[in-house]
Amino acid sequence: MLNVAAYAAPAAGAPLEKITIARRDVRATDVQIEIDYAGICHSDIHTVRDEWGRMTYPLAPGHEIVGRVTEVGSDVTKFAVGDVVGVGCMVDSCRRCPACTDGLENYCLDGNIGTYGAMGYDGEMTQGGYSTHVVVEERFVVRIPEALHGDRLAAATPLLCAGITLYSPLRHWGVGPGTKVGIIGMGGLGHVGVKIAAAMGAEVTVLSHSLAKKDDGLRFGAARYVATTDAEAMKALRGSLDLIINTVSVNLPLDDYLALLRYDGTLVELGAPTNPLEVAGFSLIAARKALAGSCIGGMPETQEMLDFCAEHGIVAEIEQINADQINEAYDRVVASDVRYRFVIDAKTF
Ligand code: NAP
Ligand code: ZN
Ligand code: ZN
Repeated sequence: MLNVAAYAAPAAGAPLEKITIARRDVRATDVQIEIDYAGICHSDIHTVRDEWGRMTYPLAPGHEIVGRVTEVGSDVTKFAVGDVVGVGCMVDSCRRCPACTDGLENYCLDGNIGTYGAMGYDGEMTQGGYSTHVVVEERFVVRIPEALHGDRLAAATPLLCAGITLYSPLRHWGVGPGTKVGIIGMGGLGHVGVKIAAAMGAEVTVLSHSLAKKDDGLRFGAARYVATTDAEAMKALRGSLDLIINTVSVNLPLDDYLALLRYDGTLVELGAPTNPLEVAGFSLIAARKALAGSCIGGMPETQEMLDFCAEHGIVAEIEQINADQINEAYDRVVASDVRYRFVIDAKTF
């Protein structure tokens, strides 16, 4: 076992503090990774603040992880010591069910094993990437393409959650040249989504709660940036969008957004607010509209997303911080005061 430094919440809602955690010995198909960077996703905050139900503490979050391979098990075939790799939101699944067989480990029928706060098949609770090292089964490790190495590596880190969470629904709903895509909320997920959708050729409309980030949105590739408080601008968009992706972490009046879809359009819910969603039946019935959800993406698609981002020069906009700034960063994420993702330098854990 390897004892390593980590930042963890000692109890629900408590500030994160430095602790020591144990990483398992490398098994035959495991990869040991020395972490370079860990991103801060809003899901980390929901989890340590106990907004999604009971967790076990201490809990070290972090599911946007990039680092270098320091050891491989005897049966590892995909990676060698020194490779630059990433780990996202899951570290295991049953590996046998129809979803796993299809490379959709995120939809494993037994439930995937989350990178932190989940009980692994070995009976140990998983601990996340706010740490110096992690040990992960090779199927759940991806290769970071060379174009994203060096001084782009820190900014590539958020692709491991934010990137795949947006890429997967954009691909699944067939976004391509000319598709009219709306993205609600331009935070960590949303800003990467604008870049990826624009690179796929879509005409992107950002639906934000203010115009404060308009210049950035247009620079990331959006064709239009609308404040959802502007009733006239919202009215002008009615019936016009093919696909809307909602990345907002609080409950929104979904009927107002469903009205922006054309017939047969789909609104995909990515944000996970604490209260149930409310939708009027007629918002869907009147023009054969659909309300759907999407959860990260499978491992083959995560690799495909990284290769796509490397090819199109897509990384996140980040603010790099040290470990002792995590608690302050959490408050700033909740206040929508981050441009656009915090990434922690793992040397400071
Ligand atoms: P984030 O960086 O905090 O971004 C959320 C954005 O939502 C904000 O930038 C803001 O955008 C908007 N927003 C925030 N508070 C709002 C309010 N009170 N009213 C209206 N808009 C508000 O969060 P994130 O890391 O992107 O994560 C977003 C959500 O997705 C979280 O709930 C997270 O848990 C979830 N998530 C889901 C998956 C999945 O697989 N489905 C994966 C990762 C994360 P504007 O300023 O532009 O309005
Ligand atoms: Zn996440
Ligand atoms: Zn499975």
